Amino acid sequence: MQHHMTEFEFTGRQMRGKRVAVIGAGIGGLTAALAFARAGAVVEVFEQAAEIKEVGAGIQISPNGARTLIALGCGPAMEAASLKAAHVMPVDALTGRKVTLFNLQDQMPPYRFFHRASLIGLLARAAQDAGAKIYLGVRAVSFGPDGGASTSEGPIKADLIVGADGIHSISRVLTNGAAEPTFTGQVAWRAVVPLRKPMVGAQVWMAPRRHVVMYPLMEGLLNIVAVQERKTWAAEGWHHADDPAHLQAAFADCASGLQDVLSKVEAPLIWGLFRHPVADVWHTKSVAILGDAAHPTLPFLAQGANLAIEDAFVMARCCDVSTDVQAGLARYEALRKPRVTRAIAAANANARNYHLSGIQRRVAHLGLKTLGAVAPQA
Ligand code: FAD
Repeated sequence: MQHHMTEFEFTGRQMRGKRVAVIGAGIGGLTAALAFARAGAVVEVFEQAAEIKEVGAGIQISPNGARTLIALGCGPAMEAASLKAAHVMPVDALTGRKVTLFNLQDQMPPYRFFHRASLIGLLARAAQDAGAKIYLGVRAVSFGPDGGASTSEGPIKADLIVGADGIHSISRVLTNGAAEPTFTGQVAWRAVVPLRKPMVGAQVWMAPRRHVVMYPLMEGLLNIVAVQERKTWAAEGWHHADDPAHLQAAFADCASGLQDVLSKVEAPLIWGLFRHPVADVWHTKSVAILGDAAHPTLPFLAQGANLAIEDAFVMARCCDVSTDVQAGLARYEALRKPRVTRAIAAANANARNYHLSGIQRRVAHLGLKTLGAVAPQA
């Protein structure tokens, strides 16, 4: 497996000197900026936020994402900035009893827990070191058919515009039209609390119609995501503050080990989980979309960011070796669509499996789906 652990050399044949404009400096956009810069392109990134900072805390990078980042030269930075995950432990939330343990020690490269800010920071540094320029506080407003775009700061022109602008993407709307997402019947809270004792794996506390995932971060924090079924929810978006008492009440009948952790939560955020269709159109003549812009994913397989990382690498790789950008983008779409469609279906299935009524049924499904962090394709 040694050959998977080495850096990848782009040929520079097709992209050297070409101008690539990336919309969005999230995980997918920064990975695209890094990959295209390594393929010789002149890369500019436009991010609407005034500073690159990730709200929220934890992100799990599974071997498929980690392998891609190693290929892009981020191996040492990744090791320095994250914790290796030893296992995933499903727990019966009602009794507090450990149900089983899925060992992750043999995963190569290791499965990792990151603080989002650390991952974003290392990607931004790597992209800049490779020559990409990042402009903050610049919002893309529209695209023309010929590689032109207008931003809040004026027009830009590029051979390729990469729409990496996330779940509320205007790139997707401009290339596909608007599509209504559907509410899944689930809401999620996220929060961090201080990590009180050393922890080397993730725990999944499962109860009928609810579950909690928690894992440690290098920054001395415990990352918590809790999900509960609900009939209705109005707003999408990750940033609604909630009263911690609501979270605690949702798990009030659960084991004391879980209640102790939740009692430490002070300022949870809550959001509704929505299912979005995978975009039909992934590229036009000079615009291509990736990550959540192309295929928003429910968080139950921890693959949204990993898929965005893979998309970015495969897009740059296909453009690097194809006869022209158009052919490269067609190949990118053909390679990626089946894989992300499969991953999204598995995440959707987990949304149900986590909340089944029998603990053994939940675990049986978990074993199949959580650890199926399938090998990357590129
Ligand atoms: P984003 O990271 O959302 O980045 C989009 C960027 O574009 C933003 O910076 C935004 O400000 C910018 N932008 C938007 N519009 C414009 C515009 N018009 N002009 C300029 N800039 C613009 N995935 C995993 O793989 N593992 C996990 O463990 C995991 N855990 C998760 C936990 C939670 C609670 C949630 C909500 C998601 C989780 N995900 C996880 C999913 C993952 O966070 C997303 O799939 C991933 O961030 C998508 O990356 P992206 O680059 O496509 O979009």
